[in-house]
Amino acid sequence: MQPKKNYKKIVIFGPLILVFAILSMMVYSYLMVLNQQITSEYRNVNAMLQRAGKILVALDYGFSSYYESTLTEATDFNIEVVNGVCQLSPKESLMITKNLAHSSPPINISYMMIGDEKYCNASSDVTELALRKVTLAPIISFLHDLDDYVIGVHYLDEHGFIISSPKEAIQGITQEQLKTVRLRNFWQEASQNPDVISVIGPSAFSEVLMQRNNMTLAMPVFENAVFKGVVVLDVSVDKLIGDLSPVAGKIRLVRTESLPTDGSAYLPHKLEVSYTNMDHYLYYHWDWRAEITQFVDDMSMSLAVVLLSYLVTVIGVLHLGTRVEKSYYADLASHDPMTGVLNRRGMEEFLRGKYHQQYLSIAILDIDNFKSINDTYGHDVGDDVICYLGEQIEKSIRNTDAVARFGGEEFVVYLTGDDSDVLKKIMLRVKDAITSQSSKVVENGFTVSGGVEIIQSDKGCDFDKLFKIADEKLYQAKTTGKDKLVF
Ligand code: GH3
Ligand code: MG
Ligand code: MG
Repeated sequence: MQPKKNYKKIVIFGPLILVFAILSMMVYSYLMVLNQQITSEYRNVNAMLQRAGKILVALDYGFSSYYESTLTEATDFNIEVVNGVCQLSPKESLMITKNLAHSSPPINISYMMIGDEKYCNASSDVTELALRKVTLAPIISFLHDLDDYVIGVHYLDEHGFIISSPKEAIQGITQEQLKTVRLRNFWQEASQNPDVISVIGPSAFSEVLMQRNNMTLAMPVFENAVFKGVVVLDVSVDKLIGDLSPVAGKIRLVRTESLPTDGSAYLPHKLEVSYTNMDHYLYYHWDWRAEITQFVDDMSMSLAVVLLSYLVTVIGVLHLGTRVEKSYYADLASHDPMTGVLNRRGMEEFLRGKYHQQYLSIAILDIDNFKSINDTYGHDVGDDVICYLGEQIEKSIRNTDAVARFGGEEFVVYLTGDDSDVLKKIMLRVKDAITSQSSKVVENGFTVSGGVEIIQSDKGCDFDKLFKIADEKLYQAKTTGKDKLVF
């Protein structure tokens, strides 16, 4: 069989299909793991925001319900004016325990209250009002401490009085800043949306780079339907979203309008948090280069195995192909392409080092009057006759014997055996097989003549000499009436 010219392409690209199939499976499993991690983190973030919302609602409820509580004494506070702002901070960080049962564990609290300078006048009415609200201040501090991502809890009353935890959040506030509090987004939004938690931020990305990736949750406080201020929770988005590892990208939280549309937002997920008017998305920031690097890192072992298997397969098949190709060309060189039997070179190779039985025979067969077959029926029929001759001879001899076409319509037959008479009979049988069926190929059939030389093999096999003798005998057959074998 002739090797296909493009078989090398098939060998190289064929296994590639398998490699691609395996790679696709690896990519699929990589994405499955990534998706699982992302969605589980989405759930965490959602749950934490839900919790933040509840904290705020609880606080809101607290401020609405316990507005008028027992008066805390002004002497329990350090009261001073800083930057034109009155700062009131508890003298003792454990003062909350004063009103609780003695068995309660002490709670470390950090908060501060600020307001207009007039609050610092201890005997004024406003101070008294402020000190009433302080019952809830330790709770603010406590809630701020509860979760990592809650970085600040504040209460701002309608007169611009603020309770904040941690106290550092408001320690540096100036009179000017205090006056503009009511112009801020959270105040505006909270006062206009009394029924929900207003979510402000996170900031645009340029601000994120400046480490201000915070989000503010704000809710108005009402006492008997009268607006009494706002409770506010500052959430650090960076702390809210955990680190996914080992994963290439990061999860980001943005307002819906900032959701990227350039394809970098992978698995966008709309946040649904109770009590809030959140209009935000979580998404995984997809960066092809980082993902591919991570993929190669994760799958390096499997990738190496796939690559190695591919190379071994290609090299193996190429090697096999080269051998097939070699044997094909060797075959081509030793065989006659038209009939498929050996050619002269093939016969000589066959005889080289061949073990002969006691006798061997070299015969030359030649079709009688072949020219007239060609002339009468055409060259194609002539070819068919030559092929038919080869087939018939091959069918009539054994595996240990051989037949070769020596050009034209001349065939050489080699036989070996322990009895010269048997060899003779075989040659007669061969001739008979040819002539008896010959009318199947050409209408009137045809005959062959042959010269046969049989010798004892211990005399050696000088092929050229034997061929010459057989050829002389063939000549005799041709000149003495044809259609015969001369032994
Ligand atoms: P003879 O009985 O004496 O053998 O007479 P012949 O006509 O057969 O003469 P010869 O053996 O010399 O015939 C050789 C002819 O065979 C000459 C050539 O046209 C023809 N021939 C040689 N090779 C091919 C071939 O491959 N195909 C065909 N169709 N004819 C061939
Ligand atoms: Mg002839
Ligand atoms: Mg001839």
